[in-house]
Amino acid sequence: MMANHMALTRNLNFVPADRTSRKPLSKSTDGSEPGSSAPRRGLRGYLLNSPRPGKVTAHQDGAIVWDGSGLITYAGSWQERPRARTISWEDWRSRLITPGFVDVHCHLPQYPAVAQGGLELLPWLQRYIFPLEKHFTPERATREASRFFAELKRNGITSAAVYVTACPESTEVCFQAARRSKLRIAMGQMMMDVNSYLARDSRALTRRVLEEGERLCRRWHGAARGRIRYAFSPRFALTCSSELMRATGELARATGAFIQTHLAENPAELVAVRKSFPKAIDYTHVYEQHGLLGPQTIVGHAIYLSDREYAALRETGTKVAHCPTANLFLRSGVMDWSRMRSEGVAIGLGSDVGAGPELNPWQVMKGASYSHKLRVVLTGTGSEPSLADLFRVATVGGAEILWPERKLGQIAPGFEADLVVWDVDRVDAFEEPLTERTDAELVLSKLVFRGALARAIRTYVGGEAV
Ligand SMILES: [Zn+2]
Repeated sequence: MMANHMALTRNLNFVPADRTSRKPLSKSTDGSEPGSSAPRRGLRGYLLNSPRPGKVTAHQDGAIVWDGSGLITYAGSWQERPRARTISWEDWRSRLITPGFVDVHCHLPQYPAVAQGGLELLPWLQRYIFPLEKHFTPERATREASRFFAELKRNGITSAAVYVTACPESTEVCFQAARRSKLRIAMGQMMMDVNSYLARDSRALTRRVLEEGERLCRRWHGAARGRIRYAFSPRFALTCSSELMRATGELARATGAFIQTHLAENPAELVAVRKSFPKAIDYTHVYEQHGLLGPQTIVGHAIYLSDREYAALRETGTKVAHCPTANLFLRSGVMDWSRMRSEGVAIGLGSDVGAGPELNPWQVMKGASYSHKLRVVLTGTGSEPSLADLFRVATVGGAEILWPERKLGQIAPGFEADLVVWDVDRVDAFEEPLTERTDAELVLSKLVFRGALARAIRTYVGGEAV
């Protein structure tokens, strides 16, 4: 049955979902002020959720209600919904509703370079990325940053950890666009004082990079009512001096900001790091000895690790951004999922655009599923993640890394209403309505493997349509 959405809306005297306000919820329909705990906004639709690791659930005819502070007060079946007259309902039947996705690793200025290459990491950086980032002027940032955040929303991403470039003015422009987007964004200026594309190596450059980072952090960390965080972003060991890394670790600890960087992505990179840091035991030790690891640190990739390195990540509480599509695209390799899991290292999912060809989280999950299946077949060891595992990591998993003190990533009472409404009409073969199916695992499978055809049509952050 292909539901006539607007007809249903009229028949039930609902607020037409397509015409509800996109403005902040400054005043509710029951007259309560923002922050009021009175039930206020409700959605009716097909709910897909991960209530616990390894589990995915569906409510075919579901309802979500949140209060004036954006906290979900009810999530369950439409039949058992609260009946308060103060709730303003939106009818999204025939649409799918998921928690907002969290992309824990992406590069804003690299977005125009997606799907361009055929090279491995180091030559790809030199050929495509450094020239692109070098010319990411504030004017260009003004043109592209808002479009990038709109692309995150269009792909169902409500929260992301983002790298910019070595230019502080362009980074400032990106932060202003992040604030306007109302998304939850952790972001930072790319830190490079060795082989930088902007200036020659010098002690003065090191000092300047640190000062610029500190200034941006003081200005933006905790801004937009806590929706923006600063992430000190030393690019990777090959573009950072010891002095820069050590001082960055101190800055992050002093401010409570994040650190994000890249680790053990490509074999040629490993060789170069060994040459540049001959006293380090291994790649992870380079960061460890400079005080960069810890619970507020996210390392991208982490493909080629020794037993000692897994232990170091676990013991320091360092988080990993798993970027399967980028790792396939640059022929980097495949992270050892089951090892990372058995070590108890927290994993989030990252698109890593521009090394990853797209932001779409369903496509990133598909890349993960395919690459881990193949890894298990070829190595005869480990096990692949279930689709429920991947969905969990792409929502709650990422949220626990970026916003550990908040409750995000689930459709459940007490969680903040970061939600995405999807048009999934084209996902199933012959356009059978996906929302007619009751098997949550099957629906998730269709979405993971055919999710390029799903379209995010409405995004909420903290209960606010953005
Ligand atoms: Zn990256």
